[in-house]
Amino acid sequence: MKVIFSGTGSSTGTPQLFCQCDVCISKDIKNKRSRFSFILIKKNTNILVDAPFELREQLLKSEVDHIDAIWLTHPHSDHVAGIDDTRIISFKNREPLPFFAGKATIENTKIRYPYMFEKNEYLNRPFLDPVEVGVEPFLFRDISFVPIRHMHGSTEVHSFRSEDFAFLADISAVSDSEIEKIKGVKVLSVCTTTKIPHYKHMELEKVVKLIEKVSPEKAFLTHMNHTFDYEETRQLLPSFIEPAYDGLEVVV
Ligand SMILES: [Zn+2]
Ligand SMILES: [Zn+2]
Ligand SMILES: [Zn+2]
Repeated sequence: MKVIFSGTGSSTGTPQLFCQCDVCISKDIKNKRSRFSFILIKKNTNILVDAPFELREQLLKSEVDHIDAIWLTHPHSDHVAGIDDTRIISFKNREPLPFFAGKATIENTKIRYPYMFEKNEYLNRPFLDPVEVGVEPFLFRDISFVPIRHMHGSTEVHSFRSEDFAFLADISAVSDSEIEKIKGVKVLSVCTTTKIPHYKHMELEKVVKLIEKVSPEKAFLTHMNHTFDYEETRQLLPSFIEPAYDGLEVVV
């Protein structure tokens, strides 16, 4: 399996518009973060996770030549605003793109992007084919998914484990029973938005404790805001935890 971290920024991206902080004006390419997304690849199957504003640019840079399904963690704009770019994927695949998400996320996306779920003249069917994710593990082609549910303020988020890889998208709290499901993974990725407490996001210190509890061989922080300098963060973390950066590829 391979993971391409195509976007590793928080909702505003880094640099933040009109910000003159050290990270935003930094010349380090690893401090340039587009909004959160990644691609999970197993053999010839490519799964896209989330659809941020920069989706098109991210897919062009990633050099994948097709997408087989999309997983949407939750319907906040920084994760869904690029969903229109999946029209061309459905068009190329000549069928609606399987769209895995929780019930509330599907409903919310249908309200915001109704035309993506309605029959269109290009496919004679909708662009997206919603598949509701519950608690049960399931298989898509040869990729297994164990849904992991957690909170992000008052929003429920669906992340997943697939074999030796797991990720937790925007997160403020997760139950011990969900943590049990991701124990034993080799690679864990966690959205780590802030360094200071925030009601919608676990701060860095809590994320590190959470990672230690799961105890993967390797962990990558993503969805970082502009207070995270890549090099400074890397040096500050235990050696098995690293900040990800846009374009990072990890073999699991
Ligand atoms: Zn987010
Ligand atoms: Zn800044
Ligand atoms: Zn969010």
